[in-house]
Amino acid sequence: MAERYVYTFGGERADGGEALRNLLGGKGAGLAEMTNLGIPVPPGFTITTEVCTYYYAHNRSYPPGLQEQVQEAIAHVERLMKAQFGDPQNPLLVSVRSGARRSMPGMMETVLNVGLTSKTLPGLIRKTNNERFAYDAYRRLIMMYSDVVMEKAQGIEPPEGQGIRQILEREMDHLKEKRGVKLDTELTAEDLKELVEIFLKKVKEVMGKPFPDDPQEQLWGGIGAVFQSWNGKRAVSYRRIEGIPDDWGTAVNVQAMVFGNTGERSATGVAFTRNPATGENLFYGEWLPNAQGEDVVAGIRTPLPLNRATKSGEAASLPSLEEAMPELYKQLDTIQRKLETYFRDMQDIEFTIQDGTLWMLQTRTGKRNGTAAIRMAVEMCKEGLISKEEAFLRVQPSQLDELLHPMLDPVEEKKARPLAKGLPAGPGGAVGQVVFTADEAEQWAKKGKKVVLVRAETSPEDVHGMHAAQAILTSKGGMTSHAALVARGWGKCCIVGCGALDIDVESKTIRVDGEVLKEGDWVTLNGTKGVLYKGQMKLLPADPEGNPWYKELMVWADQVRRLGIRTNADTPSDAALARSFGAEGIGLCRTEHMFFDPQRIMAMREMIVAETEEDRRKAVMKLLPYQREDFLGIFRAMEGLPVTIRTLDPPLHEFVNLSAEQVKDLAAQMGIPVERLQARIDQLHELNPMLGHRGCRLGITYPEITEMQARAIFEAAAQMAQEGKEVFPEVMIPLVGSLKELDHQQEIVERVAQEVQAQKGVKFAYLVGTMIEIPRACLVADQIASRAQFFSFGTNDLTQTTFGFSRDDVGSFLPVYLEKKILPSDPFQTLDQEGVGQLIRMGVEKGRSARKDLKVGICGEHGGDPASVEFCHRVGMNYVSCSPYRVPIARLAAAHAAVKDKG
Ligand code: PEP
Ligand code: MG
Repeated sequence: MAERYVYTFGGERADGGEALRNLLGGKGAGLAEMTNLGIPVPPGFTITTEVCTYYYAHNRSYPPGLQEQVQEAIAHVERLMKAQFGDPQNPLLVSVRSGARRSMPGMMETVLNVGLTSKTLPGLIRKTNNERFAYDAYRRLIMMYSDVVMEKAQGIEPPEGQGIRQILEREMDHLKEKRGVKLDTELTAEDLKELVEIFLKKVKEVMGKPFPDDPQEQLWGGIGAVFQSWNGKRAVSYRRIEGIPDDWGTAVNVQAMVFGNTGERSATGVAFTRNPATGENLFYGEWLPNAQGEDVVAGIRTPLPLNRATKSGEAASLPSLEEAMPELYKQLDTIQRKLETYFRDMQDIEFTIQDGTLWMLQTRTGKRNGTAAIRMAVEMCKEGLISKEEAFLRVQPSQLDELLHPMLDPVEEKKARPLAKGLPAGPGGAVGQVVFTADEAEQWAKKGKKVVLVRAETSPEDVHGMHAAQAILTSKGGMTSHAALVARGWGKCCIVGCGALDIDVESKTIRVDGEVLKEGDWVTLNGTKGVLYKGQMKLLPADPEGNPWYKELMVWADQVRRLGIRTNADTPSDAALARSFGAEGIGLCRTEHMFFDPQRIMAMREMIVAETEEDRRKAVMKLLPYQREDFLGIFRAMEGLPVTIRTLDPPLHEFVNLSAEQVKDLAAQMGIPVERLQARIDQLHELNPMLGHRGCRLGITYPEITEMQARAIFEAAAQMAQEGKEVFPEVMIPLVGSLKELDHQQEIVERVAQEVQAQKGVKFAYLVGTMIEIPRACLVADQIASRAQFFSFGTNDLTQTTFGFSRDDVGSFLPVYLEKKILPSDPFQTLDQEGVGQLIRMGVEKGRSARKDLKVGICGEHGGDPASVEFCHRVGMNYVSCSPYRVPIARLAAAHAAVKDKG
């Protein structure tokens, strides 16, 4: 027997169902399931996705046997509908629609009213006793068919406004004008008859061939056009964005037409079994009396609310289906409940009422936003529809972002034109006036203005302005550049590497996409997507704590996750914030920003120019009281939880990044000649600072820095202990590549720990460990673990050094790499599991081979990325550490990982 390509449904019996989703597509599977459930579905059949695959593999032809199977299926529909396809007396009309495995809303084509010809038209008129309706159906078919089958499917791309559909629409508008009417519905049967003649003439003239007057030709034209639309521009770009494989193909659903536009007892509508924007458990939707489905979607007429419960705003006074057709509404309501219970998820449904009879045209799992996803998941679990595990698996960790940050109003954003695109470094939305320097950002903000700080890139000296700004926008840099790290830590909206911006700080202008933005101009940023807009857009506020469903979901997630969740925080307030989000300690406290306060930076600079060890030590030790206070504040905020503090990491030249004028001032302040200061600055200049004098290399050449920091940490710990408070300091040495480097630094730290405990007469537990962030550390992890008590993978540097991509310069080529698919995603954002992941796996295994109980975590940016968190779970890490606002995301991602692990 020939292979099966066609599956029928109708008359309460279907060949397929959900189990055949890959073959029948989502729509086909849904129609089959509904039919089997005894729900009224117009009979029809599905041509499988395999035919689509065959079609493309065989030079756009069909497999042998398809023709016969389609004819048999048509006969099946004819029997159930008691009408014949192409019959002049009693014609059957069909719709031809797409339907991929995963829904791709609006991305492919549809043709309705197929089978209507000059011969069958009189039959339809007689059958319906409605001439106006029949001519309206005919003009719709001509319009749709000529557009979808005769133009798009043929690959014809007419200039803007010259497409056949627009040409026909203009003809229709012209006729309406002539008749002095506004709405399509005001055209009479006579008008539509005339319009059909005009349409037929125009199609022949524009397309160079007549509109097909043969039902079979129409049918096969429609089927071919749906298959062709799988490779249409819209569908291809949607698949790229959603990661849908090209070889899945679409199915084609051919179904008996039912009409919502035959009169006042007919209607059509779209509905969701729960509100897709809020998650509220109320049947929610829109309908139109005397209309076809496309009228609801096209927005020509304002749709009406479905029921009393969901009437609001302007729609409050409009008649609902519940009021207009109470019996049918009741029937629909029963069906929607049945569908949701059966599919155990919110359904997006389409229905048509023809002359008082209800027909279901579609059911599929409805798309929803993050807020709605959370509420539905929790409520469905409580209703007994799904388990707790299913509940949190229903919420994508990234969807929590919506609750944690203000977002752009999606309705407004949809209408706006993007000005430029960069890397999405800090999520959420922000609106502000453009400023070009950190000082201006601070000054403007003090006056109560909302600003967006625009820089080529940022440095630690900009942090005051970055803090004051609503958002940060840079033309350079990648996902782990300074701006990105800082913004993410604060939960601030940020776009980096927005290469299209031509920033001129002198004239305070930005040239972008043919526009010129000046200081004070308003811009809006979508930091979640990395998109910049001109002007002001509405923001929707964030309030996770006010969301009871979110709180409950997170409790469930915490019950199953195995990974610990810590935070990257450098200040007591960040630490407290992260703790409120559920952080179980600090996984990385970077200490570099602590040196940029005016008094402190002076001491640093003194140290840098000092010529004797004694002078150097004197200068550094000036910082001790400040640092002790820093750490004490953080320990207090994290009382009872571990706090990992990293010794100083950045290259020294960052502390003497000065203009000529500033060098003069500083030399005078320090009482040294300008030349001496300048010579020292020149000496510190590095060609590759990222690979230069930083990390433990700094502590090895200037041991007094490590000593001062260790003393500050342990003196703060001693004070906590004296106060009877629990404290668990963990000192972490950065950029270690060999055991000897760690040995050197660890000896200092441990000596100081012993000294402080002896001096203060208290005992406290502490650990000394290392970051693993250069490949060599992974290769010799067993040696390093012989000394280190913990590892924390610094995947920002590890990604940088494994790929050989500069973290700060990746913005110049990464967008092209992503566009050309050289890389699947930004490796600074989502861990490269294939490459960098191997090093991590090796590091963990080797480390634990030397020290069985080695504690292992991650503190690079990947610690807050859901896919990377799942990887960390799989390689057996103990915890992940991420910026405060990503703590909830990591908690949920860790729970997902644990459930998936269980299988
Ligand atoms: C890292 O390299 O991953 C890391 C956390 O350190 P930093 O980003 O400060 O270099
Ligand atoms: Mg690092």
